[in-house]
Amino acid sequence: MGETLLQVHELKKYFHSKKRLGKPDTIIKAVDGVSFEIQKGETVGLVGESGCGKSTTGRALLHLIKPTGGEVVYKGKPLSRLSVNELRHLRQELQIVFQDPYASLDPRMKVRDILLEPLEIHGIGTKKERLKKVEEILEVVGLGEHYANRFPHEFSGGQRQRIGIARSLILHPALIVADEPVSALDVSIQSQILNLLQDLQEQFSLTYLFISHDLSVVKHISDRVGVMYLGRLVEFAPKERLYAQPAHPYTRALLSAVPVPNPDAALERIILTGDVPSPANPPSGCAFHTRCPLAMEKCKTDRPEFRQVDAESHYVACHLQDE
Ligand code: SF4
Repeated sequence: MGETLLQVHELKKYFHSKKRLGKPDTIIKAVDGVSFEIQKGETVGLVGESGCGKSTTGRALLHLIKPTGGEVVYKGKPLSRLSVNELRHLRQELQIVFQDPYASLDPRMKVRDILLEPLEIHGIGTKKERLKKVEEILEVVGLGEHYANRFPHEFSGGQRQRIGIARSLILHPALIVADEPVSALDVSIQSQILNLLQDLQEQFSLTYLFISHDLSVVKHISDRVGVMYLGRLVEFAPKERLYAQPAHPYTRALLSAVPVPNPDAALERIILTGDVPSPANPPSGCAFHTRCPLAMEKCKTDRPEFRQVDAESHYVACHLQDE
């Protein structure tokens, strides 16, 4: 294990939906006690179905939305105890790449201005130095300085995501949360962007939290992987371990649905029945018990502890591990 860059302790993010027709407020537990660490220079993947809380975890972890509870410690500093100014200063080191390159770039701004904006906000360099940085970063992401004078609509989806990456990179961050960065792109373009992210990681010693619903993409890029279900981590392990020996029934079901080149090596397909329950009214005990093919009686009442199950830093929340 290398140096710990970021620690997430029992992170929670609850949303309150307003009272309607005399009914009480509903609390939606989008993230409900998530804990993990990210080592300097590694990529941690976060996977799960839509609505499992993975994107909210990424935003709450960066304090782009205020966590309801828990703590995020970056380079030994608890973010909740920093002043507004200290947190703003730290934002240079903690950046995000958004899913939708169409929506995340202001259509009225030229690429040059989009990339100058973070430098101006943080008061970095003279005007000449800032323009030089913009030219350099466009080269780094494979676009070239001649693109600076264009508007976002003049680019393809892959090129726009390169601009999004350039915007997050221009402040020389240490950690980037990449939130479904290739989901909106054609399959042929996805691998180009993934390769770019890997090249940049090597070039700039970056650390990534890579969020995706696509297990194949996460496998390609991650060192360790966490699986989320209804706002909680249910499994967390080194990539090789998780994909070769998934221990949680939910992880097994997700992996069994991933197409593999060799049909003989495929896991037997596990079909999950029922919809994902609402985080406003999660099931008692193990939240997965309403869909788990291996559920036991105690799964309905007792929440399984998220605990280490072997020496491979493999963590699982499942009563099957108690036996
Ligand atoms: Fe299934 Fe029970 Fe394990 Fe939950 S605790 S995943 S319901 S076996």
